[in-house]
Amino acid sequence: MFQIYNTLTGKRENFKSIKPHKVGMYVCGPTVYDYGHVGHARTYLTFDLINRFLNFLGYKVNYIQNITDVGHLVGDAETGTDKIKKKAQETGESIGDIVRHYTEAHLEDLKSLNILEPSNLPKASEHIKDIVTFVEDLISKGFAYVTEEGNVYFSVNKKPDYGKLSHRELAEILTGTRVEPEKDKRLPADFALWKAAPSGATAFAREPGATEVNSERSGEYVWDSPWGKGFPGWHIECSVMSQKYLGDTFDIHGSAVEHVFPHHENEIAQSEAKTGAPLANYWVHSGMLTLNGRKMSKSLGNTIRVPDALKDYSANEIRLSFYQTPYRQPFDYTRESMTQGVALRSKLFNSYMSAKEEGNDERFTEIISALSDDLDTHRALDLWSEQANSLSREQFERLFSVFGLKFVSIEENLQAKKLSDERDEARSKKDFLTSDNRRNEIQQLGYEVVDTDTSSQYIPR
Ligand SMILES: [Zn+2]
Repeated sequence: MFQIYNTLTGKRENFKSIKPHKVGMYVCGPTVYDYGHVGHARTYLTFDLINRFLNFLGYKVNYIQNITDVGHLVGDAETGTDKIKKKAQETGESIGDIVRHYTEAHLEDLKSLNILEPSNLPKASEHIKDIVTFVEDLISKGFAYVTEEGNVYFSVNKKPDYGKLSHRELAEILTGTRVEPEKDKRLPADFALWKAAPSGATAFAREPGATEVNSERSGEYVWDSPWGKGFPGWHIECSVMSQKYLGDTFDIHGSAVEHVFPHHENEIAQSEAKTGAPLANYWVHSGMLTLNGRKMSKSLGNTIRVPDALKDYSANEIRLSFYQTPYRQPFDYTRESMTQGVALRSKLFNSYMSAKEEGNDERFTEIISALSDDLDTHRALDLWSEQANSLSREQFERLFSVFGLKFVSIEENLQAKKLSDERDEARSKKDFLTSDNRRNEIQQLGYEVVDTDTSSQYIPR
């Protein structure tokens, strides 16, 4: 039985999907105003593993990951500039170009790490009509209010269980919330569902639901609404898109642990206020990533982008390094922690190259049981490494698929194969200069070269 830790209940629970053999999973996607870094990659690698493991267990996963292209303000607070608009102002590029460029970069990051593409990646800006309808419903049900300024806020004290995901009492949140400059909020903890366009902004009329925005002309992402021109808050987009693609209640909602509060807390409040049903049955959060013990963030200037990490380590090595630490624990990105993945990749791939046709089912089941234990990847990888000689090629291949590892033998890589043939010949003639040159070229094509007295092995990286 697959057990997974649920942030909402604070317990490890048996996983049971709403529909047999099907899982609906929503993971908060990127705000596309800048490149992602390996900290973001860790979150997507966690949910890729969950996706792959559920596939292994026989589930068909409908995996929705949103693209935030509007409404995410600088500092995650209720004030400040939209992150994407700020980037457009800094670079002089249009909002449309910024959004397209960083969405592509995100998809490229996923692909380069061998992350399975989600079933759908809906964009917030393409769901404005749905957002407006959702917000109108919350107003009519008494959970939200419109202010003279044209903002719409969610009234947290109308939802007595507000705080249940982050395990805080509403009273504590109300007294602990920093007083923000908005004068039109009833309570500081109320959060924006819809923000009025900044006064003086040359907001141009847009039909709700329009997909193309003339950002070249206006520099704004602004839509008409019953409350005047404006744009949606960040939290509401996830409530709207998860309901649209997965229904009122779905199986798994996940993201990084820093989104538990306020983002996910607000999503629950909005969605459950509207539908009266639980938003998701399992709330799953991946731990943070640090770099040499320090938080990785753009403001600290210590971020490592995925393409840069891939210059030092292969996608297989990054995956194995990250998965050495169970997903809920913090992962420290250091030379040592990453080198562990390199060594493990070498060992596993080497064992696979000499694996037999017959494998030990009990050993294989032990590895799967470790994964069923709230995805204890650390233990699963330890067992795999220890028992590598007892597993068949087929069992290896099933594990490659669960862990998202890609094994391309030198025989399958025609260019590398040709070089290795030339190298064998050079070695037989004791032409060591040519042999060394070929070795370097083979390494550059992504192979580890291991020589013995009699032969050479080329292990994919
Ligand atoms: Zn979200």
